[in-house]
Amino acid sequence: MSQTVVVKIGTSSLTQPETGQLALSTIAALVEVLSTLRQQGNRVVLVSSGAIGVGCARLGLTDRPKTIALKQAVAAVGQGRLMRIYDDFFTAMQQPIAQVLLTRGDLVERSRYVNVYRTFQELLQLGVVPIVNENDTVAVDELKFGDNDTLSALVASLVDADWLFLLTDVDRLYSEDPRSNPDAQPIALVQNMKQLADVQTGKPGSRWGTGGMVTKIAAAQIATGAGVRTVIMQGKSPLNLLKILAGDAIGTQFEPQPRPFNARQRWIAHGLISTGKLLLDEGAVEAICKAGKSLLAAGILHVEGEFESHDAVTLCDRAGHEIAKGLVNYSREELQKIQGHHSEKISEILGYLGADTIVHRDNLVLNQ
Ligand code: GLU
Repeated sequence: MSQTVVVKIGTSSLTQPETGQLALSTIAALVEVLSTLRQQGNRVVLVSSGAIGVGCARLGLTDRPKTIALKQAVAAVGQGRLMRIYDDFFTAMQQPIAQVLLTRGDLVERSRYVNVYRTFQELLQLGVVPIVNENDTVAVDELKFGDNDTLSALVASLVDADWLFLLTDVDRLYSEDPRSNPDAQPIALVQNMKQLADVQTGKPGSRWGTGGMVTKIAAAQIATGAGVRTVIMQGKSPLNLLKILAGDAIGTQFEPQPRPFNARQRWIAHGLISTGKLLLDEGAVEAICKAGKSLLAAGILHVEGEFESHDAVTLCDRAGHEIAKGLVNYSREELQKIQGHHSEKISEILGYLGADTIVHRDNLVLNQ
């Protein structure tokens, strides 16, 4: 059966640790695997880092650039070279590829999100392997994915993937850092993210515990929430990807949650960035989580953040635990006036007729 597979590879797997030069044998093996998957009729997307790493190598820079402008310039040098290398390898396998560079802003605006979605559909329909990276040269802090683990999870959600493979420099997730703790237990299967409560508190500063695994677990959370089975596996052995698809228990697999979202709900859940928070009383939480109702003004206890009407906000219980995300019908200023009041009072308080609901059910997505 044809499946949609998103594979993310990071700079640490693509380059030699000592020299920063490209790990050509890894790239070749990955390209062979992805081309095989394509030839078997699957839809394949590759999310590849390496623009900055390759740019540094090309320019003979020994340290990773520190200023934003230099990083952006170096990424512009590296991205082209990276694609050239991929194209050479994929061409040897008669597999066409495409470059897709995204910024966070491309997913926030509904019309741009839909455009990106359509482009992916066309590329996949054409049998092309899109190679995705953050558009580092133009991305600015407020609208950055920040890391390609997150980007790959959002892409997996966007293309409605069956699988997301996060290729990294460890073979799987462990209960603790296996390099400093010989008792660290390998984790083969994660059925529920709560299982990882202890793992996420990895020691700061250790390559294993922070950047690497924390962003991968966060990515797995996004992807599994969108119904995508997610795997953390060793990047140096891309052939394992085929074995995993054939049923082998290699790496760490995260079981997907049921796939409840339609495309618009996926956009709300993963495309939009929430800029406000509403704390709700027990009645409102119950109505939203159990009875499938919209959020009304009466149930709002507290309003935080800066937002206008139609922005995304996070809905939380009294204790601040996130329960849902949705598009709000009023600005922060308006909400502060009408919170706690019955819907019939809204027009009287504001002096104009607005929506009855604060977040309508159709614009609301529950957390998994
Ligand atoms: N977009 C960055 C690059 O291509 C990498 C981001 C990441 O490693 O997560 O160099």
